Amino acid sequence: MGSVTVNALLIEHDEAAASLIRSMLKNSRDPLFAVLHVDTLSGGLNELRQRSFDVVLVDLALPDCQGLDTALAVQDCSQSPVIVLASINDDGITTQSFEMGIQDYLFKEELNSSLLIRSIQYSMYRKRLSDQLQQSEERLRATLEKAAVGIGHVAPDGHMLWMNQQLCDILGYTKEEVVNLTLTDITHPDDVESTNQFFQKLLDSETASYTQEKRYVRKDGATIWIHLTASMVTEVGSSTRIAVGFVEDITARKQAEESLRYSEARFQALYRDNPVMIVTVDSKFTMLTVNPMTAQSLGYRVEELEGESVLKLFHEEDRAAVADQLRTCLEKPFQVFTWQFRKNNKEGELVWVEEFAQAVYDLHGAPNVLVVCQDITKRKKAEDALQEALRDLERSNRDLEQFAYLASHDLQEPLRMVWSYMQLLEKKYHDRLDEKATTYIRFAVNGAQRMQDLVEGLLAYSRIGSQKEFHPVDTSKILAEATENLMTCIRETHAEIASRPLPSVRGDAMMLLQLFQNLISNGIKYRKRDVPPRIRVAAEKLEGEWLFSVADNGIGIESGDFDRIFQIFQRLHTAEECPGTGIGLASCKRIVEQHHGRIWLESTPGKGTTFFFTIPANGQNAPEATSPVT
Ligand code: ADP
Repeated sequence: MGSVTVNALLIEHDEAAASLIRSMLKNSRDPLFAVLHVDTLSGGLNELRQRSFDVVLVDLALPDCQGLDTALAVQDCSQSPVIVLASINDDGITTQSFEMGIQDYLFKEELNSSLLIRSIQYSMYRKRLSDQLQQSEERLRATLEKAAVGIGHVAPDGHMLWMNQQLCDILGYTKEEVVNLTLTDITHPDDVESTNQFFQKLLDSETASYTQEKRYVRKDGATIWIHLTASMVTEVGSSTRIAVGFVEDITARKQAEESLRYSEARFQALYRDNPVMIVTVDSKFTMLTVNPMTAQSLGYRVEELEGESVLKLFHEEDRAAVADQLRTCLEKPFQVFTWQFRKNNKEGELVWVEEFAQAVYDLHGAPNVLVVCQDITKRKKAEDALQEALRDLERSNRDLEQFAYLASHDLQEPLRMVWSYMQLLEKKYHDRLDEKATTYIRFAVNGAQRMQDLVEGLLAYSRIGSQKEFHPVDTSKILAEATENLMTCIRETHAEIASRPLPSVRGDAMMLLQLFQNLISNGIKYRKRDVPPRIRVAAEKLEGEWLFSVADNGIGIESGDFDRIFQIFQRLHTAEECPGTGIGLASCKRIVEQHHGRIWLESTPGKGTTFFFTIPANGQNAPEATSPVT
């Protein structure tokens, strides 16, 4: 490898000195020197502006500049190390020149080849070192400045010396403002004392560093939480000590901790004092936590349950199903499952529970099941009792219907016999009977006739509800049929039946015919004396249902009787006033209810009555198998 060539600029006015120096350098082999000589400062500066040199040798006595100013001018213009060549040995100038950063100071009289070459090499080495130092210092400064953590320097008297940008941002001050602050200025009043204590320990070297979670007060007055790590450093080459603090803004973390503490407190309160049972179960169904209510409700102590399998609390027959449910719950986090099972308390008594369960993860990410459970034994017993009562009611209804049917059916035959023999008696023996006997026979025939009507009504009534299927029924056709059936009485009374277009509904045609016929015949039957009955039938579509109305201009009904007239055998008139059985409206009510509708009326005595009833419009009104007899 060849020798290194050092490019030197020699600014020397004295020709003899210049050639001496050149010859000293010329003889060097390692390094080699390439020397450019100029004899004025301006000539030197001119060269420096055009190219760079490894070293500049400058005389302080030039025609265009004298003294250290010469060296300064050269230094300003060049990055290269500068060596001053002086004619006189002046200690003052020597010191001054070093302070100015001039690398070396040589006296021409003392100069020899090896001193000169060594000085040049040494000054180049020093310059390189100082450049590297400067570079690393800038790097360090930039690193501190841009660090994500706040950094600050504090003097032993508590004055802030410097803060990086991050700390300025945390505190809301500018770099210029922070140098006027003290530690106390930025510390929350409640934390000043502890801060001073820690700081004093650092100053007294009782501790090399400390960490503290404390509060700062920002320039805008807001309180923030910070985590501080502080230590003392002594500046190199002096005994000056400064405290260095690393500051992390932990306000968000503190707030999160605070809200966590709050939520934990609420959870604990809920957990402890809740009147429902709360249990946490792990993936092996072991009870991890059991709240006091759970233990109390089942007659145990909490310690007797925690760590035990939850399955043992359940009724033997339900355990497999409970395990299945818990497994499903563990597989599907965030879903709430609900189930009802039987448990046994410590005494072995049956306890029905309704449970809401959801998988939750523990701190290690393992799934557990949180079960919230309530004792529904009373509700279950009530439900069972209700079901039993309903079953009883259904059974007795069926029996009653059966009885009504059989009774009315079987009564018809002997009745018919009484009736026909009475008629026969009157027909065959009327010339032998006196007037009284004839009247008695007529009473008996009428009674038998009324009895026959009652039995038939009862039979029809008991049949309502036995229909199992509904079909689409055109109610305008039903109305026409009802009118047809009532034609004799319509003619006799000069009744007028008018109707709007009627819809088609799902139902039982026979029952609907009976309904229309009953309402229309009542409208005619309960007419005003000497006023021909006028019956208006209409239907209106409401949300999800049809509202039918049958209005008459008859005698009307007092509002106090509105409910009563729908009960079986309830009549407002005697048989003498107006014949009837009191079964008609009870049948209407039953028919409408079979069709999942409602029936009611509006009436003004002396003016007329309107009966309303509804039939669902969705067509889904399937008949009920049975319904209670009222
Ligand atoms: P019935 O007509 O056989 O007596 P209902 O059950 O049909 O039995 O009627 C019960 C009672 O309601 C009747 O006795 C009558 O007093 C009253 N009623 C029914 N419909 C009307 C009506 N349109 N106008 C006035 N009263 C009525």
